[in-house]
Amino acid sequence: MQELTQSRIVCPQCAGENDIPPDGKFLECQFCGSAIYIDKSKVVNRFVIASNFNEEQAEGNLRRWMAGNFQVKDLDKLAAISAKNFYYFPLWYFKTNDAGSDKIYLQPATSTSVSEIKNVQIPAGSMKSFSKKEFDEKQFVQPDVLYDNARNWLEQTGVSQDSIAESNLVHIPFYQFYYTFGGKQYTAMVEASSGMVYANIWPAKSEVPFKILFGLSIATFLLVSILSFVIGFAIGGRSYNPLLLGEIIKVFGYGAAAVPLIILAYFIAKKV
Ligand SMILES: [Zn+2]
Repeated sequence: MQELTQSRIVCPQCAGENDIPPDGKFLECQFCGSAIYIDKSKVVNRFVIASNFNEEQAEGNLRRWMAGNFQVKDLDKLAAISAKNFYYFPLWYFKTNDAGSDKIYLQPATSTSVSEIKNVQIPAGSMKSFSKKEFDEKQFVQPDVLYDNARNWLEQTGVSQDSIAESNLVHIPFYQFYYTFGGKQYTAMVEASSGMVYANIWPAKSEVPFKILFGLSIATFLLVSILSFVIGFAIGGRSYNPLLLGEIIKVFGYGAAAVPLIILAYFIAKKV
């Protein structure tokens, strides 16, 4: 097991012994070149996921997401982007092995208002070792959540500590956008390797018109049912069975009532 010895750091990749780095946190193994992160209780490999989207493409994805079905109408056109940042966000990466099957869990390694980002998918083989030559350290958000805390959060969601087979620190590229809509500020993050958009809160489509429509539909069909039997009894009598006549009238009544309701639903969906 890789552990902290008193004055040396054992590389989790090659087991080579390195001197403790001056900053006490980040190290490049002098034997195998692996990037290492030294947490208070754990020495782990430090990985990066490469960015595949530039800022313009990321903003394009955000606008498309804003035009989606769950967002208020015209959000893509009306939202005013007030600020944007690019950074590599640190996440604790846990690979568990339970009865022969591997699973990956992520926990933020620094505080964030967008808790959804722990649902990021890391494609197999996409993690590469951090290297100073390839990446700009200034774009990396420093981890401040301890390994033990992240592992405890994971345990609270029902993942046993004993099933953890591998732990790493992984930096994932994000564009963070701040935008205003209707006088309020919102934030959304675009994951820059897959282009997926993550947000906890956004200007959502109002459900009220749909609830009113639903209530109106129930009332309409109830009314049509009652009217059908009233008519059935009024024009039925000896020659026709009033209940059967009522049922027949009801079928036509439902069909006729559905037409304006469908048209109304269509217009509400377009407007809201
Ligand atoms: Zn090494």
